[in-house]
Amino acid sequence: MLTIDGSFGEGGGQILRSSLALAMVTGRAFRIEKIRAGRKKPGLMRQHLTAVQAATRIALAEVVGAEIGSTTVEFRPGAVRPGEYSFAVGTAGSTTLVLQTILPALLTASGPSRLSFEGGTHNPFAPPFDFLAKAFIPLVNRMGPRVSATLERPGFYPAGGGKFSLTIEPSGKLAGFELMKRGEILRRQGRILLADLPGHVAERELDLLKNKTGWDDTFFSVERVQGSRGPGNVVMIEIEAEHVTEVFTGFGEVGRPAEAVATHALQACRQWLDADVPVGVYLADQILLPLAIAGRGSYLTLPLSRHSTTHIDLVRQFLEVRVAVEGMEGGRWMVRIE
Ligand code: ATP
Repeated sequence: MLTIDGSFGEGGGQILRSSLALAMVTGRAFRIEKIRAGRKKPGLMRQHLTAVQAATRIALAEVVGAEIGSTTVEFRPGAVRPGEYSFAVGTAGSTTLVLQTILPALLTASGPSRLSFEGGTHNPFAPPFDFLAKAFIPLVNRMGPRVSATLERPGFYPAGGGKFSLTIEPSGKLAGFELMKRGEILRRQGRILLADLPGHVAERELDLLKNKTGWDDTFFSVERVQGSRGPGNVVMIEIEAEHVTEVFTGFGEVGRPAEAVATHALQACRQWLDADVPVGVYLADQILLPLAIAGRGSYLTLPLSRHSTTHIDLVRQFLEVRVAVEGMEGGRWMVRIE
């Protein structure tokens, strides 16, 4: 059995989720120790536990240590069983991170799947639903499968209550891809989601975005979320280019000025635009896993985050792949999997 040190590198929940994903795909059992050792509340939190339970159900796995606060988990996967599943994260724990865990195995499963998730869909420190649907899934579909996601209602931290569903038509094997250029920019849009908060929050964010980008009014929208379980505010800048779409996000929080929320999204977008790379920081760490499973692929990105470098180390423990990282001119980095 493979032993994974959950505290290495970035040391967060991602090591656990990706280990589960890789175990489901390869059929290899693993034991992970020191889960989230350096975090304020170490061990499994609700959303990590939901990810373990989801992986256990789908891979008919034997599992030891699947409880809140647990810092060691043993996972022995059986055969992956596609089909209809629903998962409730309980609180506003991130639903998209639970999906990240189980998606790779279902992409090459023996039949289609239909999944539904309840919980947080737009959480700080996790991929918002729109990033998943517009940036990540189109790249997964380029590898052969047909995945499509529908948001029923957004759920924000801390109240949650969001819901989305997903259908997966698998392909026999994943095909790698090369993503070195983003091509012409075809569409740009600044979107503000606002739930149970005064309208001036969105107005201030909108003013900042308009002033700083100089884009026409038609490039922006404010979407008032009706019937939300709690307050929420998210600023998303979506850029659709010929070869890739990227989504940059700022999350509203108690005590964080509206201008700071919009600036956060804008700065991430600017950094990506200025570097002239196709793949942004978050997309870089997330597409690594499917490409490593495909066994082939390459992309040009910004300097790698700790999530990405940790992911590279982890992938090498489960798969027989070579992942090369090369610094290029202008602070750009090439990741090549072979
Ligand atoms: P921790 O153990 O630190 O509490 P966690 O389990 O909540 O962590 P991380 O290990 O930090 O989660 O992983 C977060 C994941 O969310 C990463 O894959 C990262 O790429 C992704 N992510 C974070 N913010 C964004 C964002 N704004 N847009 C897209 N993806 C994001």
